[in-house]
Amino acid sequence: MENGSTIAIDGPVASGKTTVGRKLAHRLEYRFLDTGGMYRAVTVVALNKKLDLGDQDALSRLTEEMPIEIVASPDGDRLIANNIDVTDRLRDRDVDQNVSQVAAVRGVRTALVRQQKNIGARGSIVMVGRDIGTVVLPDASIKVYLDASVEVRANRRHLELQSAHGTLSYQEILQDLVNRDKIDSERDVTPLTPADDALILNTKELTIEQVVDSILNEMESR
Ligand code: C5P
Repeated sequence: MENGSTIAIDGPVASGKTTVGRKLAHRLEYRFLDTGGMYRAVTVVALNKKLDLGDQDALSRLTEEMPIEIVASPDGDRLIANNIDVTDRLRDRDVDQNVSQVAAVRGVRTALVRQQKNIGARGSIVMVGRDIGTVVLPDASIKVYLDASVEVRANRRHLELQSAHGTLSYQEILQDLVNRDKIDSERDVTPLTPADDALILNTKELTIEQVVDSILNEMESR
């Protein structure tokens, strides 16, 4: 297998990309970047500052000026935005409900994609998101698009959240997910879509290990 490869994994909410991406990075001893965390960090800071999320110029300026640092720790990466550790806020419901609107702003995407391209330039990385194969790493060694029906994904997210805090019903989760999918796939700027040359895997009936193995097999065979 080629050294220093770049692996792009895209897909909708709860398609399994973060879990698969982390495992793959671990198996290959590559770096791992979850780009969704960066959009979430901008959203947390914007909410903390009580910015009007309809003000695209303010959001773009905020992102341009915001240092985002990812610091490895024994319990997983910590995300530091504007010198504040926002890690524990990233998955809160207000962030879930507003992140897609923030991520649809052209200036926000320009600033974050620039940083993601810089991080990817050294190779040996698994990067996951929505536009990695199409925009951030268009020359990736392998591009994967993970998918599953909205019901399968909502069910998965429901089980995950039940073991965490369990306050949302399946219906609420399904509705949040449908809303986020809609904004992500209909936005003007680089909407969620598989790259033409992506390996498309439906994760409904595959275990995480099977998905990881399929990607490794595909890499070996190229
Ligand atoms: O992957 P995750 O659910 O954490 O992403 C949160 C949101 O960030 C997505 O719903 C999407 O709006 C945005 N996003 C994006 N492009 C990426 C990664 C995430 O637009 N590369």
